[in-house]
Amino acid sequence: MLKFLKKLAAVLLVLFAATAVYYTVIVKQNVAVYRHHAVPALMYHSISEVPPGWPSEMCITPQLFEEQMKWLKDNGYKAVTVQEARAALMAGEDVSNLIMLTFDDGYKNNYTVAFPILKKYGFKGNFYVIGKDIGKSFTQDGFKEYMDKPMLKEMHEAGMEIGSHTMSHDPLAKIAPHYLPWEIYEPLNVFSRRNGGLHWFIHGIAFPNGSYNDAVLAEVKKYPKYEYGFSGRIGANTKETFEQTPFELRRIGVYDLGNGTADMVHAIRKCYTAGYLESVGVPVNTIQNLLDKRSGFEAKLPFHKK
Ligand SMILES: [Zn+2]
Repeated sequence: MLKFLKKLAAVLLVLFAATAVYYTVIVKQNVAVYRHHAVPALMYHSISEVPPGWPSEMCITPQLFEEQMKWLKDNGYKAVTVQEARAALMAGEDVSNLIMLTFDDGYKNNYTVAFPILKKYGFKGNFYVIGKDIGKSFTQDGFKEYMDKPMLKEMHEAGMEIGSHTMSHDPLAKIAPHYLPWEIYEPLNVFSRRNGGLHWFIHGIAFPNGSYNDAVLAEVKKYPKYEYGFSGRIGANTKETFEQTPFELRRIGVYDLGNGTADMVHAIRKCYTAGYLESVGVPVNTIQNLLDKRSGFEAKLPFHKK
């Protein structure tokens, strides 16, 4: 009896392993196909050393950022604005070499450090600034310095995308609903001609902490100037994402976990894999669990070579 059970266990183990390998191979192959019509988006914050009082993962050092941009360039990637990504997807182009780089909060080092590096590689960035902090500096909770309007104007004129990260940075799903119009509508005013001569309109919003709900989405949709929004959902962005959920674009944070450029490469793979799994109907929570376990799904995916 015991022998039989042992045998059964061995057979089951082999079957289980074979199934796992089968799915890993299949998923890998399908993700490689999926990449041709999906654009990942990476989220950065401060491009600096870690200032006192800051959580370290919020910062990517200038050297590491440069290395990551070089990796993208060497691997055939082109960093584009959200509008450029959307246009390419709508036109049915092969977008496997496109990526969106997004920067939240509007730190001054985005202008002094990230902007020159992006220009060096011919890349575009997408910057989401906190309305009431534009041009300000604070020493509470660690030193924070934000871009001012002339900096934003210069970046906009160089082809960078500037968007809203609300007025106060409070998580929108948690604030009293009567504050929503101020948080969402007021940034459009901040950028208007009469308030400081920024002669363009913003079109995008990134929800602070990825926090949103139906009331938030309803408020954003009241203002036709807004064309898209970044949610906290992981995955990549396809034609369907832009058509069906333009205010729930997917992206993933790049954090310095001590593995250099590999931390960014890992994040990109996660975008594609999560996006593919979502496209075949795998529930969002399951995707998060699968990817957190660093399963075989994330084993080496093909990347573009120059
Ligand atoms: Zn933020």
